[in-house]
Amino acid sequence: MSDMIDQKSRLGAAARGFVAKPGRMLIDGQWVESVSGESITVFDPATGLEIKRVPAGTAADIDRAVSAARRAFEGSWSALRPVERERLLLKLADLVEANAEELAELETLDNGKILMMARYGDLRLAIDSLRYMAGWATKIEGTTISPSFAYVPDARFASQTLREPVGVVGQIIPWNFPLVMAVWKIAPALAAGCTVVLKPAEDTPLTALRLGELICEAGFPDGAVNIVTGDAGPGAALVDHPGVDKIAFTGSTEVGQIIQRRAADTMKRLSLELGGKSPVVILKDADVGQAVQGAAQAIFFNHGQVCTAGSRLFVERPLYDAVIEGLAEVANGFVVGSGFDQASQMGPLISSRQRDRVQSYLESGQREGGRLVAGGTAIDGPGYFFRPAVFADARPDMTIYREEIFGPVLAATPFDDLDSAVAMANDSSYGLGASVWTRDLLLANRVVRALKAGSVWINCHNLLDPAVPFGGYKMSGYGKELGHSAIDLYTESKAVTMALG
Ligand code: NAP
Ligand code: MG
Repeated sequence: MSDMIDQKSRLGAAARGFVAKPGRMLIDGQWVESVSGESITVFDPATGLEIKRVPAGTAADIDRAVSAARRAFEGSWSALRPVERERLLLKLADLVEANAEELAELETLDNGKILMMARYGDLRLAIDSLRYMAGWATKIEGTTISPSFAYVPDARFASQTLREPVGVVGQIIPWNFPLVMAVWKIAPALAAGCTVVLKPAEDTPLTALRLGELICEAGFPDGAVNIVTGDAGPGAALVDHPGVDKIAFTGSTEVGQIIQRRAADTMKRLSLELGGKSPVVILKDADVGQAVQGAAQAIFFNHGQVCTAGSRLFVERPLYDAVIEGLAEVANGFVVGSGFDQASQMGPLISSRQRDRVQSYLESGQREGGRLVAGGTAIDGPGYFFRPAVFADARPDMTIYREEIFGPVLAATPFDDLDSAVAMANDSSYGLGASVWTRDLLLANRVVRALKAGSVWINCHNLLDPAVPFGGYKMSGYGKELGHSAIDLYTESKAVTMALG
């Protein structure tokens, strides 16, 4: 995996053509450079080689994008009927489907993920999410109310609620599922009638830009979707901009807190999908083979770079040794290599910075007394590869037990009774995901109700669907994306009362 073959040579003609073009960003229907003329380099994490350069957006670019989004919001976009918004989103879904192979290749090149996962996971989910959200455009409803107003004698009233688009939305996304994150942000906002300025992650802007081309091809009005590439700078400018009505952010809790503080000045609406340290709880009656595979998938899927990664494992004592042994075997058996290699089961981490970060947790885990039973070594070579690691006998005072690592590192702990398992699972500032593994559904439901997390899975983990709401408890953020709730995130409710005479 550490050869220095430029992986652009592994792309099909379409993806190669996209990569060869000058990098531009989308503002007001035009493909433009940054006002500053500066650009940032996009790297292939499997080789460390440059893929291409894209504009380094600045506050001035954000300002242009927000003005364009405002004009579209007050003009061409709001002139469309719901069914026309629905049709455009369906057209976009068709275009993404027609270009799925190209998008999957770009995702693997940019993010490092396994091509099969990009193809059958990310692309499937992106297309299904576009179609699912398209359908909501025509199904947004308010309510009618028969109010009393008992303190107004001799009069009758009728009330209703209208659901109106919140306006211009700034959307900031991370690098772990670049295309899916872009779609999960853009699609419900457009379905609800909002317009968008999207800031992709600095590490992975490619598929969002290709999506932008497909948005233009589908025929969305200029300015309905603007995409400004760059680092944290344009993200912060979006948060500060008085012309932005709402920020939808997915990323770290740390940056989420900064955004929440800064957004107070303009009282922006916020939805924040943040970090996690999600527990996997295996009860003693669980099928060991299924639980081992499930726990492995929970932490190692997408190289552990998943906000709901099952990074803390709690196993009831009678199964503990067997589960640890099984997990060590799975971790040691992983083929780590380029996402383009058919044999690979795990690609590189996103950047050298991320690999160093993960490595530092390995060191702290060992220093603080964790028992490393598998993996955990960085692999020599130009790419950012790392062998998946399993720590047994993790304790609540250890850093690897408490902090989000966002890499393939598992911290496992035995338990003797269910109440202590639930207490340990809930002993975290995060509350994003959790899973429980058992054949006893009564017990499973008891645990489900006791866990403080936005998504709880029974005998599965990390399963997300556009129809099922998704979002955190506690410091994992607030606001449920997906499902009907996604529309609530992008609409305001207006109460209207009429005197009937
Ligand atoms: P991050 O550092 O918080 O960055 C996320 C996005 O915010 C990037 O586009 C980033 O730009 C931008 N940004 C950074 N500082 C900013 C600021 N001060 N103001 C505005 N925007 C700013 O997170 P990450 O390292 O990319 O992603 C990993 C984190 O995301 C993990 O904590 C993970 O749990 C979380 N995550 C959560 C979910 C969820 O649904 N809850 C899903 C995926 C990931 P740059 O690209 O330049 O850094
Ligand atoms: Mg990259």
